[in-house]
Amino acid sequence: MQETYLEINIDKIRNNILKIKKISENSKFCAVVKANAYGLGSDVICREIEDIVDYFAVARLSEALLLRRAGIIKPILILGYVGLDDIEKCSRNDIDISIYDFGLAQEINKLGYKIRGHVVLDTGHGRIGFREDEISQIKKLKDLKNIDIISAFSHFATADEEDNSFTIKQEEIFDRIIDQVKDDFAFEFVHLANSAATIRQKIFKGMNRVGISLYGLYPSIVVKDNTEIELEKIFKLYTYVHFVKEIEAGTPISYGRTFVSDKPMKVASVAIGYADGYNRLFSNKGQVYIKGKACKVLGRVCMDQMMVDVSGLDVKIGEKVEIYRDIDRDADLIGTISYELMTNISMRVKRIYIKNGEVIEARDYLGELNES
Ligand SMILES: *Cc1c(COP(=O)(O)O)cnc(C)c1O
Repeated sequence: MQETYLEINIDKIRNNILKIKKISENSKFCAVVKANAYGLGSDVICREIEDIVDYFAVARLSEALLLRRAGIIKPILILGYVGLDDIEKCSRNDIDISIYDFGLAQEINKLGYKIRGHVVLDTGHGRIGFREDEISQIKKLKDLKNIDIISAFSHFATADEEDNSFTIKQEEIFDRIIDQVKDDFAFEFVHLANSAATIRQKIFKGMNRVGISLYGLYPSIVVKDNTEIELEKIFKLYTYVHFVKEIEAGTPISYGRTFVSDKPMKVASVAIGYADGYNRLFSNKGQVYIKGKACKVLGRVCMDQMMVDVSGLDVKIGEKVEIYRDIDRDADLIGTISYELMTNISMRVKRIYIKNGEVIEARDYLGELNES
């Protein structure tokens, strides 16, 4: 079927994991697969990597349950909030939760379900967690008999930035807090590093939570320039040319006529738009690749289509178009990061999984599951 699709390479994700694990000494490996594995499809990916990882991390209970339904048996941690109504489901499905507020933890404890918790420490990221002046609160968690505190973790704010000093400071705060509370709990391990802190600062506290680099991307240029780990992007986003025309000088293209040709050009209409997650901010800015050549987006990106410059190229209807060949550069063009471009790829885009050169699975969230 000629529709916009994501091709996800299982061999490449496994290679990225193995390369990172090689430097991870004895630290456990947690694959961060929140937001549907950063848009790529968490059920298939988790199934295909479960044998080489120790843990999975997600953001929501529904994401965790999807994995359990898909047959995933390794531990799963929810990094964020779980409502009291859902604690029983977590308990029953063996899903670890994050504990970051004493009052909420008391309420959870009162429900009476046995559950495993990881204490969240705010060492400077400023999102959720206990701070260094709340040691007494953390210690009180041990009285909550239904919550088995097996771990504690924190999250870095700037591990991907040039200046390393705040990362070092966060690590020191983390170590200090752990030192003060470790005798109160039977921690199996603690965890701190994201992708950046794993492959750049090489911080190993017992487990590493790796997200973006699983998928073959570097958290930032700074990280890319400061690691010897060679990652390979595991996905390709493709669409198709569905119309080609020659235009004269002075021809407007797309809504608002924001592009008007200043010379004769060849223009292709391609079947991707902002409803597929290709941001409208790419209007007159983005570039796609056809036959290996960069083609500029002309005029505004529409909901389901856009036009690109194919002057000088032999392009026909049905030609394949690659989007996000250099996703870091594309993200930079519109002032965002690869994470957002990936997670915005919409449910309309089909996902196809390749292993050993063969299609092993497909996901068509909106329609029938088409045979590959
Ligand atoms: C998303 C997230 C990660 C993974 O971050 P990457 O930069 O993608 O490696 C790790 N830990 C927490 C708490 C997160 O929210």
